[in-house]
Amino acid sequence: METKVWIVDNAVDKKGSYSQISQAATLLRENEVVAFPTETVYGLGANATSTIAVKKIFQAKGRPSDNPLIVHIADRKQLEEIAVDIPPVANTLIEHFWPGPLTLILKKRENVICDEVTAGLSTIAVRMPDHPVALALIQESGLPLAAPSANLSGRPSPTSAMHVLTDLNGKIAGVVDAGVTGIGVESTVLDCTAEIPTILRPGGVTKEELEKIIGHVNMDAALFAGDKVPKSPGMKYTHYAPKSPLIIVDGSPSFLQQLVDQQRALGKKVGVLTTEEHEHFYKADVVLACGKRADLYTVASCLYGALRAFDETDVEVIYSERFPQEGIGTAIMNRLNKAAGYQLIREK
Ligand code: AMP
Ligand code: MG
Repeated sequence: METKVWIVDNAVDKKGSYSQISQAATLLRENEVVAFPTETVYGLGANATSTIAVKKIFQAKGRPSDNPLIVHIADRKQLEEIAVDIPPVANTLIEHFWPGPLTLILKKRENVICDEVTAGLSTIAVRMPDHPVALALIQESGLPLAAPSANLSGRPSPTSAMHVLTDLNGKIAGVVDAGVTGIGVESTVLDCTAEIPTILRPGGVTKEELEKIIGHVNMDAALFAGDKVPKSPGMKYTHYAPKSPLIIVDGSPSFLQQLVDQQRALGKKVGVLTTEEHEHFYKADVVLACGKRADLYTVASCLYGALRAFDETDVEVIYSERFPQEGIGTAIMNRLNKAAGYQLIREK
């Protein structure tokens, strides 16, 4: 299959990109899969009401069928069409955070969204992306779009159309290219069917931001213990991993450098994932600075690109610095831990 690329302007209303959006929307209505930018990462969209269309997502990504998808909508009316019994707390959150990187788990309306999207669950994950191109595409298609990240399953999520093509060229109908995405990590998944709203996956909206609006929010216990079965099925899979083993180091830059030196003495090519502040400390085969430690949002936005960049090098092992587990740092460490398969070395 030839994968079409439509280069569009983020100011989609003003800059005449509309004919391209409309071509992409037509393919979506014909039950093809199309990748598109959101404010978090690139998504791989398909008509969420069609089994044929949704199966193409799972096939292109190699995604396990028991891992449900997030449905992307552009207005409130679409929400009413796919969810029922929306609790007051969800309405409050929608007012504050939509459009934005917050996915809500709600009770699913029967017989609208196909079972493949929700992996047979009675709940549905839904969000309204804060990206003009995503919103225009959803509106133009007139469909709720099921859209996981547009990467091969297990690989770091794509933050540019180039990342999408690296993984999926020839496997999908097209990609709408509007440049790099902003936030760089996926949405926060919040279960609003639980008695106390519960974060199943940390992401673009932080726990602290949610609690300012609705009070106490729980974290799913499975986020802290590798052995519990997570309520968010997707959280049990290895994810986001570069091709070479990644190990997180909890310690000083000089301790991390010692680890690098030991491996290099054994003849190994070694990579270091750090930030602009610490970049000059390290001597290794590849040193990548991923944003600024002083502003963790810059780290989130560069993280997946950095993990992918190591795949373009010949490093055989990667050591990464650790980040504070607060604010957006919670999402960063969740993704880094998964990418590292929870391998961590602590300075004594
Ligand atoms: P992705 O589409 O790759 O961004 O991942 C979507 C995440 O949302 C995965 O971790 C899914 O397991 C989770 N998810 C989707 N639908 C549900 C649901 N109904 N209940 C719980 N988690 C869900
Ligand atoms: Mg994903």
